[in-house]
Amino acid sequence: MNVLMVYPEFPDTFWSFRHALRFIHKRASSQPLGLITIAAMLPESWHLRLVDMNVRTLTDNDLKWADMVFLSAMVVQKKSVLEVIKWCNDLGVKVVAGGPLFTQEYQHFTGVDTFVLNEGEITLPQFLADLEQGHPQHLYTTQEFPDIKKTPLPRWDLVEMNQYDSMSIQFSRGCPFNCEFCNITSLLGHVPRTKSAVQIIAELDTLYATGWRRNIFFVDDNFIGNKKVLKGEILPALIEWRKGKVGCAFSTEASINLADDPNLMQLMVKAGFNNVFVGIETPDEGSLTECNKTQNKNRDLVESVKRLQRAGLQVMGGFIVGFDSDSPSIFQKQIDFIQNSGIVTAMVGLLQAPIGTRLYEKMAKEGRLVEDISGDNTDGTTNIVPKMDKNLLEQGYLGIIRTIYSPKVFYDRVKVFLKEFNPANTTVTIQFQEILAFFKSIWYLGILMDGRKEYWKLFFWSLFRYPKKFPLAITFSIYLFHFRKVSASAG
Ligand code: SF4
Repeated sequence: MNVLMVYPEFPDTFWSFRHALRFIHKRASSQPLGLITIAAMLPESWHLRLVDMNVRTLTDNDLKWADMVFLSAMVVQKKSVLEVIKWCNDLGVKVVAGGPLFTQEYQHFTGVDTFVLNEGEITLPQFLADLEQGHPQHLYTTQEFPDIKKTPLPRWDLVEMNQYDSMSIQFSRGCPFNCEFCNITSLLGHVPRTKSAVQIIAELDTLYATGWRRNIFFVDDNFIGNKKVLKGEILPALIEWRKGKVGCAFSTEASINLADDPNLMQLMVKAGFNNVFVGIETPDEGSLTECNKTQNKNRDLVESVKRLQRAGLQVMGGFIVGFDSDSPSIFQKQIDFIQNSGIVTAMVGLLQAPIGTRLYEKMAKEGRLVEDISGDNTDGTTNIVPKMDKNLLEQGYLGIIRTIYSPKVFYDRVKVFLKEFNPANTTVTIQFQEILAFFKSIWYLGILMDGRKEYWKLFFWSLFRYPKKFPLAITFSIYLFHFRKVSASAG
């Protein structure tokens, strides 16, 4: 059996980092972890190939080689998904589809032969058994959540690693919180399920053995969902693993209560984490109550962010406007918060209601759902009718992103961050691409583009005041190049 695993193309989004990746000659942020995990569960006798359309072009010949195409995607990849399905149908190649997009809205996709939904550890074996008997069904789904301690090592050998900036791995699935707009709990449950330290170390060993020395992203929705296993098993194992290794900085996503646990922050930094994405959402208590973001309430959020930064964790933040409780003052409040907290990588979006969330149900009941969700958090669109005047909301939103990504405001924020950030004393490996990126940043940001004056100010300010953090200042300048390109197309 020849199986082609296809990962559809992402549009040009905030998280694609596409314009920044060009500086280091990479094509995509990270590899399709779901597909290479599924690949590891397929019969050994099958022949497998992977085409990630974000790093190379899919061709007729690729598809003609395949007996089946396995597709996995997120909502934001929908346009490319539809094109691939049609292409397969035209060539008569069978399509098997799974992953978050199809699990949430498989009914919208004709042309797929078999849907293998929810978590593949349960549904894939059912499909394979039926296939062997010669009568696969159209739909495989489950309400259960598998034990991921049995999940096999992903098939790294299928990946063209040099095309990516980071490799993603996964320690846990599920989140104990219950934010109203988030579909993680409906997809993966409330009780975080974890892999064992042995599994994680085996995954890291495999990656390291391939020569990988760049970033590694733990794609958990909330890395600290199960603190007991994390502190007792995983982080001590990671600290041990790191000894004598070079490169491979870790990053992940976590809830803000990480800032309340100095021991956990310290262990994470010692283990090699230097970057964490946190859903801040809003500085407005009323809106936090509205969306049930309990962990963010009744705290000084700026101080929490700074505690993380002082511990050695750079914070990337997610922000939302368009809650029913938001008044027009929210736009300036968000800008002030982002500037004061020194969150350089600030992703701001309009409130959206993904399928499967409590917010979606609420909006449906109130007759406030208007269109399909785009899946792009920062394109200025929403699938709900806001309480605030829509035009006012859109203009206010655009005002935020145009302000926070304008060179002066952005570079000021970088300074706020660099003053606070206390990076760990780890060995940094500078690769040839980074040296090239440095000279490219001078060319594009220091010579060609507007904002040159601010670039050079930050350049010399960080070089003389914080030489150890100077590479970070250059990295952020390159991020700005990407954020400005993406935000120019929003709205
Ligand atoms: S903390 Fe994050 S992953 Fe957990 S429910 Fe809230 S938004 Fe979702």
